[in-house]
Amino acid sequence: MTCDLTNPIFTDEEAAGKHFESLRWPDGPICPHCGTVNEATEFKGESTRPGLYKCRPCQKPFTRHHGHATTNIGGKEKNKHLGKA
Ligand SMILES: [Zn+2]
Repeated sequence: MTCDLTNPIFTDEEAAGKHFESLRWPDGPICPHCGTVNEATEFKGESTRPGLYKCRPCQKPFTRHHGHATTNIGGKEKNKHLGKA
């Protein structure tokens, strides 16, 4: 990939999202709940953000951003300190 700033992945949120998905999920969407690959349906609604999926096997919704900010390291550290006190 070149560093072309006119590339839609830099200017179009949906194109950027699809690019991100292809990097994160080269084999299709992966459900963070049950780990099933490429069995999720993308929501296509007026009020629905792009990148929202529903896993068919476990029927739970998830987004392509799911799991990025949920590493709860800070919380674990806190609990450790509380346990010592
Ligand atoms: Zn699932």
